[in-house]
Amino acid sequence: MALSSGSSTDHDSREKITIQNVSRSYESVQALADVSFSVAEGEFCCVVGPSGCGKTTLLRAIAGLDDPDGGSILVGGDPVTGPGLDRGMVFQEYALFPWRTVRGNIRFGLDRPACDCPDCEARVRELIDLVGLEGFEDAYPKALSGGMKQRVGIARALAVDPEILLMDEPFGSVDTRTRDRLHAELLDIWTQTGQTVVFVTHDIDEAVTLADRVIVVDADPGTVQSTFSIDLARPRERTARDFVGHVARIRTELGRPDDTSH
Ligand code: ADP
Ligand code: MG
Repeated sequence: MALSSGSSTDHDSREKITIQNVSRSYESVQALADVSFSVAEGEFCCVVGPSGCGKTTLLRAIAGLDDPDGGSILVGGDPVTGPGLDRGMVFQEYALFPWRTVRGNIRFGLDRPACDCPDCEARVRELIDLVGLEGFEDAYPKALSGGMKQRVGIARALAVDPEILLMDEPFGSVDTRTRDRLHAELLDIWTQTGQTVVFVTHDIDEAVTLADRVIVVDADPGTVQSTFSIDLARPRERTARDFVGHVARIRTELGRPDDTSH
């Protein structure tokens, strides 16, 4: 599962996502350069790196919302050619429809958003319960806190029960206590669903709290610098020695560009 320089093209059946030598440039900016790593089925993988290192570009490419200039992305062994119901995405800035209620926004994640059959109604109800928004079904986004908006975003991404959940700094705009609660809720959902998660953040503490494995991305251009396995039981205690040790190692790595020795 480890990061490679991308020489292998053999598909390992335990690999859910395979990223091989992916590059992406925007005019004069090279956002991603020769990025290769894989994510195992059911793995919780965090991608950490400074602002502008290409995290969103990478996630959008996995989602099929952006087409890299070079390399390939396989999901379950098949090349990504566009968005699909097997991948749900949670966006950094909520991306909710302001004119739709909580129920309406979540419903939009279903493959048949306009359908009000009992099954679809029941699914929306189930998702509202899952993310703890009972009582807010008819509220509009402007009446919700940041944490509640992001719960709606998560419920919408989960609506079709995707095999893969892609999350782009989803808790960057919520306060610390709400974020802690959302971490616990997300880990519960992940345990229940067994989904493969790629979670992007610039917050090392957040990555070590959540991940089985942390991929460290370096900026300018975005390249995979190293990977760290986080072999700690959950829930994780941030003051525990092992936790602090992982955070320190990743922090040191992020401050050390061009080192691929890990
Ligand atoms: P991150 O999510 O890590 O902050 P991004 O993937 O958003 O990084 O961006 C990586 C680099 O690509 C940045 O330098 C950014 O300015 C540039 N970039 C991203 N999207 C575009 C775009 N649509 N047009 C031009 N440059 C872009
Ligand atoms: Mg981003």
